[in-house]
Amino acid sequence: MAEDQEKVLFQRVSLIGLGLIGSSLARAIKRRGLASEIVGYARSKKTRETALGLGFIDRAEETAATAVEGANLVVIAVPVGATGAIVQEIAPALSVGAIVTDVGSVKGAVVEAVAPHIPEGVHFVPGHPVAGTEESGPEAGFAELFEGRWCIITPSPGSDAGAVARVESLWRAVGSEVDQMDPQHHDMVLAITSHLPHLIAYTIVGTATDLQNHLQREVIKFAAGGFRDFTRIAASDPVMWRDVFLANKDAVLEMLGRFDEDLTALQRAIRYEDGAALEEIFSRTRDIRRSIVEAGQA
Ligand code: NAP
Repeated sequence: MAEDQEKVLFQRVSLIGLGLIGSSLARAIKRRGLASEIVGYARSKKTRETALGLGFIDRAEETAATAVEGANLVVIAVPVGATGAIVQEIAPALSVGAIVTDVGSVKGAVVEAVAPHIPEGVHFVPGHPVAGTEESGPEAGFAELFEGRWCIITPSPGSDAGAVARVESLWRAVGSEVDQMDPQHHDMVLAITSHLPHLIAYTIVGTATDLQNHLQREVIKFAAGGFRDFTRIAASDPVMWRDVFLANKDAVLEMLGRFDEDLTALQRAIRYEDGAALEEIFSRTRDIRRSIVEAGQA
C-alpha cells in the first residue's frame, strides 16, 4: 500500500461536475484510496472523456441520474446556480442511505434549492472547501488542493449526525481542517473574505481596460505594481462567479455597503491630506496580513 493510502471511506463515490473542484477531489480520493470506485458525470462529452483519459474517475456516465445509481456518496461540484436542477434530476436514482454533499461557494441559496428534492432516507450535508484557483476544468485540478485549507460544513439542526461525521472525515482525509457554521453565517463570512475581493478585482481590471489604449499598454507593462494580483483573481471563471453573486446577493450587498463607507473615509483622508489616518488604517491592515500568515492561510 502506498504511503498516503488510507482506509476506504465510501464504496462508490459519484461526482457530478468534473472541473477544478470535482477533479481535485477525485484525484485526492484516488491518491489516498478513500473510495473503491469513482463514477463521474459532466455536462459535455469532452470533459467526460478528458476525465477518463486523465484517470481520476473509473467510469463516466452520460447522465447525472445514472451516475449516482448505487453511490454511497454523491458530490455535486457544478456552478451554484445549476445545483438545484441537478439534484432534482438525480433524486429518483439515489439509493436509500446515500449521502449527498456539494462544494458550492454559497450555502443559503444551495440549501434552499436542494433540500426540497432530497428523498426520504437520503442525507444532505452541504459543504464548501475554501480552496481554489482561478483555473477551471478537469485539467486544472490537483490532489493537493485541499491540503491545509478549511472546509466549511453547514448542516441543518436535523441533519443525520453519522452522515455529517462521514463527510467531515472525507475532508479531513484529503488534508483539510473542518469547521461547521449555519448557512447564513457562512454566506456573510464568505461575502467579505472571498466574494467582495473578487468583485473589487473584476472592477479594477475592468476600469483599467476601459482606459485609453496607450495607457492600457502601460498597465500591462507595469502590472507588477499590485495590479497583477487583481488580474489573476479577475481571470476566475465568469459563470461560477456570476452564480456566486446572484446566489449571495444580500450578503454581498451588505458587505459592499460597508466597503463603500470605508472607501469614502479613505478618499476623505487623501483629500484632506490626513497622513495620520492613512498610516493608522494601513498599519491595522498590515497586522491582519501578519495574522493570516501566522495562521498558515497565506
Ligand atoms: P469548473 O472547473 O468550471 O467545473 C464545473 C463543472 O460543472 C464542469 O464539469 C461542468 O461541465 C459542470 N457544469 C457546468 N454547468 C453545468 C450545468 N448547468 N449542468 C451540469 N453541469 C454543469 O468549476 P469549479 O471551479 O470546479 O466549481 C465548481 C463548484 O465549486 C462551484 O459551485 C463553485 O462555487 C465551487 N467552488 C469553486 C472554487 C474555485 O476556486 N473555483 C472554490 C471552492 C468552491 P462541463 O465541463 O462539461 O462544462
